[in-house]
Amino acid sequence: MCGIVGYLGHRQATEVLVEGLSKLEYRGYDSAGVAVNTGNELEIRKFKGRLAILAEDLEKSPILGGLGIGHTRWATHGEPSDVNSHPHFNMDRTIAVVHNGIIENYMKLREWLTSKGYKFFSETDTEVIPNLVDYYYEGDLFEAVVKATSKLEGSFAIGVIAKNEPDKIVAVRKDSPLIVGLGKNESFIASDIPAVLNHTREVYLLEDKEFAILTSNGVEL
Ligand code: GLU
Repeated sequence: MCGIVGYLGHRQATEVLVEGLSKLEYRGYDSAGVAVNTGNELEIRKFKGRLAILAEDLEKSPILGGLGIGHTRWATHGEPSDVNSHPHFNMDRTIAVVHNGIIENYMKLREWLTSKGYKFFSETDTEVIPNLVDYYYEGDLFEAVVKATSKLEGSFAIGVIAKNEPDKIVAVRKDSPLIVGLGKNESFIASDIPAVLNHTREVYLLEDKEFAILTSNGVEL
């Protein structure tokens, strides 16, 4: 179990993400992190330990941007550590992913990606996802996530963002929960409803293998 939150809207994403993650603390976790598209880059902050460590760090040194994803991790592959915390990213940090679940065929995928020149920094199963998305990325994040997830075996709820698509979050789930929240000129993804209840009551529970594309124009399923 862990928590995923994603936000796209007119507020500072980190504030919404940290607040949302705090509502998911009941699920248990060992580390927490966020990734925000600042317009220039995907800025990622993640720490082993309590959400308060992340929150304090962000208070001291804020990341500005209205689009981001956040995660509280419950380690299954790789010890709890800063490096193993989510979000995970591809080699050149242009794609970031938060993931809940277990990728059962990650060793095979990791070997295959390594043979294609990809490098890995963590011990997690999750890190194959941003690299697979990178492998398939040809300028359309949604298409790349569809192709990448078709290679995954196991369970996942994921949120994906790309530096080059500053107005988009792609989300999908299989055997792990994920909801979409619709606000006024803002939208959310989360592992569970309490994470978004302060902002909207309009909530949609994603079906298994259903994709959601969040943009400032709304949500496409
Ligand atoms: N399997 C992933 C990991 O160990 C995700 C764990 C989770 O659901 O928090 O990092």
